[in-house]
Amino acid sequence: MKEIVIISGKGGTGKTSLTASFAALAKKVVIADCDVDAADLHLILQPEILKKEQFKGGYKAVIDKKKCIECGKCIELCRFDAISEDYVVDEISCEGCNVCAYFCPVKAIEMNQSLSGEFFISDTRFGPFVHAKLGIAEENSGKLVSLVRNNAKNIARKDGYDIMLVDGSPGVGCPVISSITGADYVIVVAEPTLSGIHDLKRILELTAHFRVKTAVCINKFDINLGISNEIENYCKNRNLKFLGKIPYDEIFIMAMIEKKCVVEYSNGKVANKIRDIWREILTEILN
Ligand code: SF4
Ligand code: SF4
Repeated sequence: MKEIVIISGKGGTGKTSLTASFAALAKKVVIADCDVDAADLHLILQPEILKKEQFKGGYKAVIDKKKCIECGKCIELCRFDAISEDYVVDEISCEGCNVCAYFCPVKAIEMNQSLSGEFFISDTRFGPFVHAKLGIAEENSGKLVSLVRNNAKNIARKDGYDIMLVDGSPGVGCPVISSITGADYVIVVAEPTLSGIHDLKRILELTAHFRVKTAVCINKFDINLGISNEIENYCKNRNLKFLGKIPYDEIFIMAMIEKKCVVEYSNGKVANKIRDIWREILTEILN
């Protein structure tokens, strides 16, 4: 089973739309949405949820007012100013470090694991789909990404799938590291803007660090031909596979409104370009 992760420097590059089109072209595939902070692949895939489970994240301190003797030690020790003057813990500020509970002289503080979100195993018209919903202001998205990926991998191995497609998190933080470590192949969707080329270089440093085979494609290449050429040359000079470039087209939005991916919605120029890129990917991973 080959795991292909699609990532980008930031949101809005068309990464999710491309992942959905690749899923349609792959025929037999397991799909995972690891962009858990802004999950939207389900909008195109329209999954039928088969299984739903709660995701528990970090620990939060809870003060038992009946036991508390109001000594103020916890307020003094909390480096995150998470405890109010009347001894109530602010769940959002609490980092779960356990210091207050450890030093409370009367053991009035308990550390409770918080409910951080939910994850789902679903069926779609392209194949099994594992996805998640992170609670508002919840962190631990790296942990949730690992959970989604591992569940998708288990399905792929158990049911004999050859390809697993992952819509990875954007950026270079903890969630994207959780998305790419141990993957077989990473595709970076770049956008030809000044910040886009800067983001691309940072991502390529990251994938090089984790030694994951990486290829690049450009979406909306014609919004800045100069930067598109710069990206292409940068890839050539670093011996990175350049998969191709897709022109700007509102078809991405129109397809999404219809809850379809681009290759389902159209047989035009953009859809054919995406098909060419998918063929390049298959050639690369099969070699
Ligand atoms: S350290 Fe314990 S006893 Fe002291 S104020 Fe905090 S919760 Fe109350
Ligand atoms: S667990 Fe740590 S962060 Fe949370 S309230 Fe206690 S000392 Fe502050």
